[in-house]
Parts: sequence; structure tokens; C-alpha cells
Amino acid sequence: MSKVKYYYDPDTLSYRKIEPKKSKRYRNLFLFLVGSALFGFLGLIILLNTRWVNTPKELSLEREVRNYELQYDILNRKMEQMEQVLANIEERDNNIYRLYFEANPIPEEQRRAGFGGINRYKSLEGFNNSEIIINATKRLDIIQKQMVIQSKSLDEIAKLAEEKEKLLASIPAIQPISNEDLTRMASGYGWRSDPFTKARKMHWGMDFTAPRGTPIYATGDGKVTRADNRSSGYGKHVRIDHGYGYLSLYGHMSKYNVTVGQKVKRGDLIGFVGSTGRSEAPHVHYEVFKDGERINPINFYYGSLTAEEFDNMLKLANQENQSLD
Ligand SMILES: [Zn+2]
Repeated sequence: MSKVKYYYDPDTLSYRKIEPKKSKRYRNLFLFLVGSALFGFLGLIILLNTRWVNTPKELSLEREVRNYELQYDILNRKMEQMEQVLANIEERDNNIYRLYFEANPIPEEQRRAGFGGINRYKSLEGFNNSEIIINATKRLDIIQKQMVIQSKSLDEIAKLAEEKEKLLASIPAIQPISNEDLTRMASGYGWRSDPFTKARKMHWGMDFTAPRGTPIYATGDGKVTRADNRSSGYGKHVRIDHGYGYLSLYGHMSKYNVTVGQKVKRGDLIGFVGSTGRSEAPHVHYEVFKDGERINPINFYYGSLTAEEFDNMLKLANQENQSLD
């Protein structure tokens, strides 16, 4: 609303309104419109350059960012599944595999440890989504480390299993002669009466009767340390060193089938039943040593006997009869 102007009319002695000329009014209106248009245009430019209104490019970028966030969400869920599977493997590793092979369990902190020291994630900092990216990267790094530790643990177990296999193959674990019906077991380990003096005497092994010439087998993998008749009482006998502190001895042979230093496998033919040395009748006198001490061989037949057969054998071996020596 333009100002209303007055002038003093000396004729009428009064103030009278100045009526603006029509052309001037149109000019003012024109200037007003041009000014408004300019003002509006400037305002629009300022608005477009502020954050309140998005350009199409910004809108598309925003959609892209939202899509990234969604994808990170999905990745996180996948990582969670991976973590669960890994945790399950780790649990079995600690409580079954490592336990079975008598290896110490790997502590949780060691398995789950991230990377300390310098900030590995510095290059990821300083963005709007830095936190999401850093967290996911950290998570993946931990998973990666867990996998490396797990893999190393399995390597260790594979090695232990190999050792154990070797140990199991080495321990004397079968009977020295074929004795499926167990009728050949004549006398066990313990106090027995001496076949010659009839006095009670410790019998340090087990006697298996069999016709002269019956094959005698190595009861575990090892190396022949003796094959001679220079040890009093045993006659022609063979000793096998199985390692891990185990040694087996086979006495009263009629003939050897091995030489000193020879490597043998469980079940290899090492000699034949006879009655050499201090023996009453053809039989094999069998002893097992552990760390230099003679132990009861009956505890080592798990490789070839069922539970029932073992029970039977135990009964026979515990009879206080006369040994064949
Ligand atoms: Zn004997």
C-alpha cells in the first residue's frame, strides 16, 4: 500500500490528496512484479543449495546409502551364523578332539581375540557410516583369526592322531599265536607252581601251548632287539622293542624267523613254537615289559578279543595252575 501524499491548496485553504498519475501506478506495479520475480528466483537458488531440499542426485544417493545399510544388515546376520557354526566347531575341538588327544583346550579369550595395538580401522573413520563399516570389519577380522586358530588346532590334532596311530600300532595288542577258541592259553601271569620244583613261584608271563612249529607272531610294530638263546631259561627267544617304553618277549622257540635290528609289523611271523630252554612241553612263553617292568600281558589283548572272550581269557589266566615256564 503506497503512502498517501497531500498538498496544501491555497485556494481552498485545505490539504488535498495527491492523486498519483495512472502511468506512474503502472510503472510501480511493473517494478513490484519484476522485483518479486527476482527475489523469488534468488530465494529458490538459495533454497536449492541448502539441505532442506534434495536434488534428484541427492535423492538417489540417499537411496544408495539406505541400500548399503540394508546390505550391511544382511552381512551382519550372515556373520552371526558363521560365528555360531565356528563356536560349535570350537566347542567340539576343545571338548572332544583336543581332549581325546590329551591336548590342552584353547582358551576362549585366545580364540576370540581381535587385533590390539595400532588402530587398524583408522582409514575407515570419518564417514557417516564409519561405525557400521568398522564394526563389520572388526567382526570379520575376529572370525578370520578364529578360523586360523581352529585350522592350526586341527593341524595339531592331525599330528597327534598320527602319533596315536603309531602308538596304537606299536603297543603289543594281540596274542602271540593264533588262539581263536582260547584253548591254547595254559597259564597266566602271577603266582604259579613251578613245573620242575613244584614250588610256588612268580610266573612273569603267559604260556600258550601249541604243537611244535606253530607260527608265533609279533604282537605290535617294533624292532627286534634280540633273537638268541643266551638268556637263562627262555631258550631260543625273541625280544621286540615297540617304542614308547614297550617291549615283548617270546620264549622257548624251536626256530627264529627274524634277525636282530629287523623292523616288524604286528602280525609278522617271527618264529615257531618249540620247547627250548627251561620248558616242560612245546609252548610259547610270552612277556610284556613297560619301562623295564614286566606287566600282565592279558591287559593288552584288546586288539583281538571281544569283551566276552576277554572275560573268558581272564578266568583261564587267573587259575592258579602249574605253569609250563
Ligand atoms: Zn611261561
